[in-house]
Amino acid sequence: MNTASFLTLGCKVNQYESDGMAELLKKAGYEVVPFGEAADVTVVNTCAVTNIASRKSRQMLNRAKKVNPDTVLVACGCYVQSVDDVLEAMPEVDIFLGNNQKNHIVSYLEEYQKNHAKQNHIIDINHESAYESFAISNTVNNSRAYVKVQDGCNRFCTYCIIPYVRGRVRSRDIDDVANEVKSLAASGFKEIVVTGIHVTSYGMDIEDPDINFTNLLVRLNEIDGIERIRLSSLEPNSVTEEFVNTVAGLDKVCPHFHLSLQSGCDETLKRMNRHYTTKEYRDGVELLRRVFDKPAITTDVIVGFPGESEDEFRSTFDYLSDIELYEMHIFPYSRRKGTIADTMPDQINGNVKHERSEKLRRLNAMNKERFEDSFIGSEVEVLIEEKVDIDGKCYLVGHSRRYVKVAVEAGDETLVGRIVTVSIDRRLNSEYMLATNDADS
Ligand code: SF4
Repeated sequence: MNTASFLTLGCKVNQYESDGMAELLKKAGYEVVPFGEAADVTVVNTCAVTNIASRKSRQMLNRAKKVNPDTVLVACGCYVQSVDDVLEAMPEVDIFLGNNQKNHIVSYLEEYQKNHAKQNHIIDINHESAYESFAISNTVNNSRAYVKVQDGCNRFCTYCIIPYVRGRVRSRDIDDVANEVKSLAASGFKEIVVTGIHVTSYGMDIEDPDINFTNLLVRLNEIDGIERIRLSSLEPNSVTEEFVNTVAGLDKVCPHFHLSLQSGCDETLKRMNRHYTTKEYRDGVELLRRVFDKPAITTDVIVGFPGESEDEFRSTFDYLSDIELYEMHIFPYSRRKGTIADTMPDQINGNVKHERSEKLRRLNAMNKERFEDSFIGSEVEVLIEEKVDIDGKCYLVGHSRRYVKVAVEAGDETLVGRIVTVSIDRRLNSEYMLATNDADS
């Protein structure tokens, strides 16, 4: 039997696509082995979101061939898509698969077995209108499955390379999504995360006006066996009365919403080419808070964007102090070749970015703790994901519907993969809340 191994860099969409390729290879008779073991085929699924991610992708390709010199090395994904002359830049690679080409991996490998000639399958992604279809029934994370529903982005934020390497919005057929979720439910998954490059654009490339993100969620909510639907990053503009009221009627959708803010200063948002104002963002947050009970609202923030003055940063800091979100992911701005922001004047010095990040990190730690502590004394449902050792003691751990991490003193291990109701007793450490399983008390 032939063997294949995978190394995946970057986001959940990449992980989903690696899972999709792994299923295709398994169907073709390959055994998938851990990365680093001897394998006939090694697939490195690369990332280009920052210059550092590109560098790491390059290093991993190099390492893959070094540890396994006889392997057929397949390089795929966004970094590969972003390089002008791949054959010159990555001489160790045998097969290049750009975006929208990964689902042909089996036939390209068959061709390679016949002639051992290098292959370059990189197409002009900006003119692609077809969705690259995969179907997964399993994934490496075995309690929560990421389901990709669309690819591409039409937004062109000035710091982001993604529209250039992933192309325009392409939505997956709604029946295909539903069938995949049914097969994940049949494999025992209780929770899915609806994933894509810009999920709220779902359906905009399809003529039927009934095919849109809200109706997709309505359809997925009907699938038996799935108990939780989590949404990945939402466009702040998509949080409308209609969307929020519909979603509030879907019992499986978790009250956990990731609304990417990026900056709390309108001037910075304009330079980023984000299509909302801080006022519109705040309206969305208030609407969610009116309709849902204690929604967990999380966000991303970029600090040190070109031209971000002390005043602009202060506006962001004050805005975030005031709006008090559950959790923010803070990213010091990282230059990306090929983007407009990379050519902007007034690039911010690394120390300033570091200082600003630290200020926001301290604010984040406070907000996060306050939100999580507000559940002490409450009952919550937790999807038990694994057994872990914390300070020499065994716990079963998982996430609540609001994505709070909860630890229960380990008892019955058959609870892994199941949803249990627990009572939150106290904070265990900075990461977990400690809870008692109600069935044990
Ligand atoms: S919305 Fe902006 S940040 Fe997100 S993928 Fe599109 S261009 Fe990039």
